[in-house]
Amino acid sequence: LKNCDVYAPVGEVNKVFPFDEARDKVLKAFGDFSPEMEKIAKEFFEESRIDAAVRHGKTGGAFCSGMTPRIPSYVLMNYTGNLRDVATLAHELGHGVHFSLSKKQTLVNYDAVLPMAETASVFGEMLLTRLFLSEEQDPKVRASILCAKIEDIIATTFRQNVLTRFEIHAHLKRKDKLLSPQELCDLWWEENGKLFGDAVEMIPSYKWGWSYISHFVHARFYCYSYVFGELLVLSLFRQYLEDGKAFVPKYLDLLSAGGTDSPPNLLSAMGIDVNDPGFWQKGYDLVRDLIMELKKTLGE
Ligand SMILES: [Zn+2]
Repeated sequence: LKNCDVYAPVGEVNKVFPFDEARDKVLKAFGDFSPEMEKIAKEFFEESRIDAAVRHGKTGGAFCSGMTPRIPSYVLMNYTGNLRDVATLAHELGHGVHFSLSKKQTLVNYDAVLPMAETASVFGEMLLTRLFLSEEQDPKVRASILCAKIEDIIATTFRQNVLTRFEIHAHLKRKDKLLSPQELCDLWWEENGKLFGDAVEMIPSYKWGWSYISHFVHARFYCYSYVFGELLVLSLFRQYLEDGKAFVPKYLDLLSAGGTDSPPNLLSAMGIDVNDPGFWQKGYDLVRDLIMELKKTLGE
């Protein structure tokens, strides 16, 4: 297996979701969790705060922009109707709900602290995955939904971890001298090799992989918040499955707190101790459950 084939989709589904159907799915996924969350997300559609259409000259990608607590946040995305786009809508509206809930904070504390910035978005995607799995009977489609989620988790927790380790070591080496591109290539190769071992063959041009990660220049160590956010959501979601509705107000309070405190303190208000390995194990238990579900779907 070559590294360029690692993310090849398994059992591709070509189903197209009209935008209205995507809206209904995301609102239902949010509403099943919390009617308040659904209400907040609905406002984005009612107030035309989502730019979803693909147009010539429009910027690519997707984001949710919250400027100040007094101005509502807006979503930009490029909706083409595939399953990934529906997940992106849930992701960006997760950010949107976060901004709407934290608008009671001052401008300084309105934005979430960096490691928590991807919490609501990833949680929103997880709610959507759950809804799809509860509704979908076709084993091919189910397998594709499960694979997409599992691959997403692996890409975020393992790959972003490699990126973060590369970045730490590059900065440590930079203490002594300027690093040449070749030295960065070598370091990149070494850190990726630790992940792939002898299971994946890295193609030669992959040595330049570090050069297109804009975060290394524009948002240093942001990659860490993807890892933290993903692992946190896995554990929080498992906690939700265990606690049921009692979890919901605590979670909404967490989002409402914005950037008023450090992640350990914000989470301890929910009764979570981030230093307890048992809490993080919950996340891995959830991953195991997803893999078991996939095996069952594939009839293994
Ligand atoms: Zn995001």
